[in-house]
Amino acid sequence: MGENGQNKSIELPPTLSVRELADTIQASPIEIIKTLMANGVMANINQQIDFDTAAIVAAEMGFDVTLETQEAAGEDELGEIPLWRRVIADENPDDLVYRPPIVTMLGHVDHGKTTLLDAIRHTNVVEDEAGGITQHIGAYQVEHNNRSITFLDTPGHAAFTAMRARGAQGADIVVLVVAADDGVMPQTREAIAHAKAAQVPLIVALNKIDKPNADPERVNQQLAEIGLVPDEWDGDTIVVPISAKRQEGLEDLLEAILLIADNSDIRANPNGRVIGTVIEAKKDRSRGVLATLLIQNGTLNVGNIIVVGTAHGRLRAMFDHLGHQVEVAEPSAPIAVMGLNDVPVAGDLFQVVESDKQARAITRERKNILRSDAEKPRNAVTLEQLFDKFKAGEVRELRLIIKADVQGSLEPIKSSLADLGSGDISINVLHAETGNIGKNDVMLAAASKAIVVGFNVEADSAAESLADTEGISIRIYNIIYRLIEDIEMALKGMLEPETKESVIGHAEVRAIFKISRIGNVAGCYVQDGELLRNARARVMRGEEAQFDGEVASLKHIQDDVTEVRTGFECGITLKGFNDFETGDIIECYIVEEVPI
Ligand code: GDP
Repeated sequence: MGENGQNKSIELPPTLSVRELADTIQASPIEIIKTLMANGVMANINQQIDFDTAAIVAAEMGFDVTLETQEAAGEDELGEIPLWRRVIADENPDDLVYRPPIVTMLGHVDHGKTTLLDAIRHTNVVEDEAGGITQHIGAYQVEHNNRSITFLDTPGHAAFTAMRARGAQGADIVVLVVAADDGVMPQTREAIAHAKAAQVPLIVALNKIDKPNADPERVNQQLAEIGLVPDEWDGDTIVVPISAKRQEGLEDLLEAILLIADNSDIRANPNGRVIGTVIEAKKDRSRGVLATLLIQNGTLNVGNIIVVGTAHGRLRAMFDHLGHQVEVAEPSAPIAVMGLNDVPVAGDLFQVVESDKQARAITRERKNILRSDAEKPRNAVTLEQLFDKFKAGEVRELRLIIKADVQGSLEPIKSSLADLGSGDISINVLHAETGNIGKNDVMLAAASKAIVVGFNVEADSAAESLADTEGISIRIYNIIYRLIEDIEMALKGMLEPETKESVIGHAEVRAIFKISRIGNVAGCYVQDGELLRNARARVMRGEEAQFDGEVASLKHIQDDVTEVRTGFECGITLKGFNDFETGDIIECYIVEEVPI
């Protein structure tokens, strides 16, 4: 809402970068990133976001937003379409063939997304004789009635919206998981909004019907109220009752997914231009960069040269979701690849290019753009203001971004952390995900004053350098209890944020010089200790402090100095104080945080 209740009107194009949005509404990019994060969208300053996403942010900042009217009518339609869709649109329709649908699970926390993904994987993944060991590469494929379905197995809005934010739109179908005992909750609504905005069809998996307090009718009612009228009530929304825990109803759900797929135009040209999305990526000590790609058009072959973000490389090896080494991967196949020279960002698009030379040229150009952006001054004031807001908050919380190697490690970490929160201090896990620590994690931390905690993962170099410049702490562990212990320590630190004052020196005012434009300079003699330029000072007259504040300048003879020691003379000015008298004692002190 606008502060005076009066919203300003703006027009926004179908897509724009975070920076452009910041410029348009005259907000700091960090503020925009933070608002995006709060809405589950991980985006960096150069990322393109679509109108829907930008509109949510702008509305939260008090603007009435309308879609910019464009002269070339065709153009704005194109702008909203993810690049890979445009690639497919450019293909000859005769070359397009059915490809397996890519499905993502969304829904409120604890409604059973992870359990459902595991249940489908365990009951439907076809393992061959070689008995591949199930690999968690961020997606898997199942067979149902001899047709394949690809599931993205990092549930949650973050993964989905990260892709949307990059215009990639990773999924063709959303399965909205709603617990029958809990019903429609805030994240359920959010998920619906995301699916709608991305124009992705949605089916409801009405989960936990085994529970004695499950109330499917009530949930149907709630769904109908928010515009998802269940098929059972002659509506358009397929609602499949399931129990992920007892593995009941899963076949019906897969059936429903294929039904939706048949009604959607999910096609690709296996012989066309190769394009797809990065699902996750990490650096592995022995194998180098390992990235999971989802192919949206074309066929990927070992030996292909790909470009993704500022990374590139010749694909040295590819593995399917069962860990089998493969030579070729077709549309909708999730595939882990080796050979990139740097860790790409989840949600980035990859493309196959002709030559190594072309790959280098493209990445060099992209790096130049990033570099020139990095040189532009940052809006430090607004960042500080943001922090002040947090400080002023009534509820104090330790905000964490957790990255772990596998989903299986995230759960125990989250639950142990939940046990730690006490009294008025809570632990808020803003984001918990598998994969290495990337730039986006640091962005989120910077924007929300969080710390980044890694378990059995590494931080990529871009993340590390951003963490340095933003002053974000990244802590990496390989033993869970050490992680928990450390967080507990940090919490204690927050419980008692003690500061200690240490007096570091005294000086006597012996003369006062009036200097125009500067004010009064106290000519002093340092009696004990030292005076520091970056310290605070009290002006004592007898027992009484006349002033308490910061040192503005410190000079020895004519030179600006950072310190003056016992027995030396100096000229000092204080921020906001002019009324020195000879004989005043300037007591210089510093404030330190006391570590626990
Ligand atoms: P997520 O946060 O949506 O991924 O939810 P989880 O899959 O982690 O599930 C949250 C909790 O609900 C876990 O304790 C699951 O065991 C439980 N759960 C999931 N599905 C079912 C179900 O069908 N029936 C019952 N009774 N419990 C379930």
